[in-house]
Amino acid sequence: MKICDLLEKKRFTLSFEVFPPVRDGSLDALFRTIRELKGLSPDFISVTYGAGGSTRDMSLEIASKVKNEYGQEVLAHLTCVDSKREDIGRILGDFRREGIENILALRGDPPKGEKVFSPTPGGFGYANELVEFIRDRNDFCIGVAGYPEGHIEAPGLDEDIIHLKRKVDAGADFIITQLFLDNGDFYRFRDLARARGISIPIIPGVFPILNVKQIPRIISLGVVKIPKDLERKMSELAEKPEEMGKYGIDFAIRQVQDLIRNEVRGLHLYSMNRSGPVISIVSAIGFKAKG
Ligand SMILES: Cc1cc2nc3c(=O)[nH]c(=O)nc-3n(C[C@H](O)[C@H](O)[C@H](O)COP(=O)(O)OP(=O)(O)OC[C@H]3O[C@@H](n4cnc5c(N)ncnc54)[C@H](O)[C@@H]3O)c2cc1C
Repeated sequence: MKICDLLEKKRFTLSFEVFPPVRDGSLDALFRTIRELKGLSPDFISVTYGAGGSTRDMSLEIASKVKNEYGQEVLAHLTCVDSKREDIGRILGDFRREGIENILALRGDPPKGEKVFSPTPGGFGYANELVEFIRDRNDFCIGVAGYPEGHIEAPGLDEDIIHLKRKVDAGADFIITQLFLDNGDFYRFRDLARARGISIPIIPGVFPILNVKQIPRIISLGVVKIPKDLERKMSELAEKPEEMGKYGIDFAIRQVQDLIRNEVRGLHLYSMNRSGPVISIVSAIGFKAKG
């Protein structure tokens, strides 16, 4: 089923993100996690797209199994990295053959150590071009990324929202956001997007911080502010991983409860391939996705 149809029918959607296991991570462990996540009756599970090679093949394999074996609606991420138009056309054909109907269309990051994204000759420079390409040729429901605090390469939030509008005008059906730790940033972003004429659903992405090791990755995203109280608590609990994990889940629960009070259209939880924290958050908010 297309996510756009779900979004039209339902006031609220619940979804989770998983990623192909890195290096020697086990696919069996990931599929166990996915089965546990499916027990929460999400509306869809999204599968990220790797930087290249075998993780890309795995993205297709995972997305296909989620859809065809588990009967769970899936959102396959796709980036423009290292791909010419014809490569993208072929990959979209592969997704379609597996019955996948939803694509999260992304530009992708510059390679490690580089600050600027250089498009592959014959490929795409920005996600709006990928959205247009998909819209012109295929019958997919298309999601795009949004950045409540602005994308790292954008000179400011306003400019970034102007570019977000390009993706919407090219045919995007919904937006999933980057993680944010202060809901005020999400509400400001949503208001600015609406003021720029963006009326498609904006689904907040929520990332439960479970240990201090996740912080460098969050900082590397460039623009995600860490609230003072969270930062203080994290340094207090740096040597107490269990308490830190519990605090991180409680923080995410408070964040999600506030988002629901503020009438968000859905919730997308970054699972980090672990079902436990997601189950705790969803149970605490007493959420039933279906019906
Ligand atoms: C929900 C979500 C899921 C993600 N999943 C993945 C994944 O699976 N795999 C992966 O590799 N990465 C993933 N990413 C990361 C993403 O690829 C990076 O953040 C990337 O740097 C930007 O991708 P984008 O699609 O937002 O790019 P774009 O929308 O193209 O924007 C990139 C930058 O260019 C600017 N810009 C956009 N269009 C134009 C234009 N026409 N002219 C001038 N400037 C422009 C924007 O303001 C922004 O600064 C994800 C991000 C999010 C939020």
